[in-house]
Amino acid sequence: MIIKNCIKCKTCGDVIESTHRHDFKYCSCKRVFVDGGHNYLRRGFTDSQDDYEELSIIEPDEKSTENLG
Ligand SMILES: [Zn+2]
Repeated sequence: MIIKNCIKCKTCGDVIESTHRHDFKYCSCKRVFVDGGHNYLRRGFTDSQDDYEELSIIEPDEKSTENLG
């Protein structure tokens, strides 16, 4: 499961975090964004993934089969 959905922009230094599913956040310089909250990790970048530093915290979810359906 996703504990924290968060990246740091290497250009402007902003740390942005998406806290819910439709919480779409840009950094100040608009080179990178995060989205998806604790449901999925969505990232955007301008040139490459080197535009940001990954700060998310993800824990393996070994009990996910219990929630199928
Ligand atoms: Zn930025």
